[in-house]
Amino acid sequence: MLQIAQLHNRPEIFYSIQGEGKNIGKPSIFIRLSLCNLYCYWCDTDYTWNWENTDFVHQNDKLPSYRKFKPTESIMQLTIEQVITEIQQYSCQNLVFTGGEPLIQQKKLIPLLVKLKTLNPSYHIEFETNGTISPKSELDQLVNQYNVSLKLQNSKVNPKERLKTQAIEFFAQSSKSNFKFVVDTPQDIDEVLEIIQKYAISPEKVYLMPQGTNPQILKEKQLWLVEICKKYLFNYTDRLHILIYGDKRGV
Ligand code: SF4
Repeated sequence: MLQIAQLHNRPEIFYSIQGEGKNIGKPSIFIRLSLCNLYCYWCDTDYTWNWENTDFVHQNDKLPSYRKFKPTESIMQLTIEQVITEIQQYSCQNLVFTGGEPLIQQKKLIPLLVKLKTLNPSYHIEFETNGTISPKSELDQLVNQYNVSLKLQNSKVNPKERLKTQAIEFFAQSSKSNFKFVVDTPQDIDEVLEIIQKYAISPEKVYLMPQGTNPQILKEKQLWLVEICKKYLFNYTDRLHILIYGDKRGV
């Protein structure tokens, strides 16, 4: 069974537009898998990992109404056939597997991807990943695109957990990868430069995205972040879904 994020007693599989990165604006079906191996301070999908009775610290802890999540209320178990039925409600062929960290469940995802590509070889399969887990070759041959979001210090995740050399080398060498960095302050750029130099990642594959879950915060960061992109020949990416819908799930 696949562990899918649960929203209003339904699996969080929905049709929208890609809000970030290389395919921004592209109509896509999102399959949001539960579980993550990291614990980013500003994560906006904390309902996939910030379980009750854990010590993880999150920026929303300061909100009086914030509660950690119960796995029983936040995860839905689906068979491959059930996931396919959800996907086939829509005619769109761009599929985005996201999370959480979808590669945690890669063994179970391989038969799903095989079936999907058999049903429709035109499916374009994207994975959004934190870049800490190397894809198995059986999965890799079915994936068209990796949107790799390596985490910086601003995530407050231990570097040993968020930067895994072997996995980063895999993604850096794959022609299917692009790299998206969540930038909070201009000081984050030194870290981005260090990573891309170490792994020989070319600037045209790099997307810098402002950290924030409301349009005003994004707007404040846009001006200086665009200048940094121009200086280093990186791509700027907005968070289009936040600008359109706000910080909402399932859209
Ligand atoms: S890797 Fe992604 S899903 Fe996991 S905690 Fe960080 S931002 Fe959230």
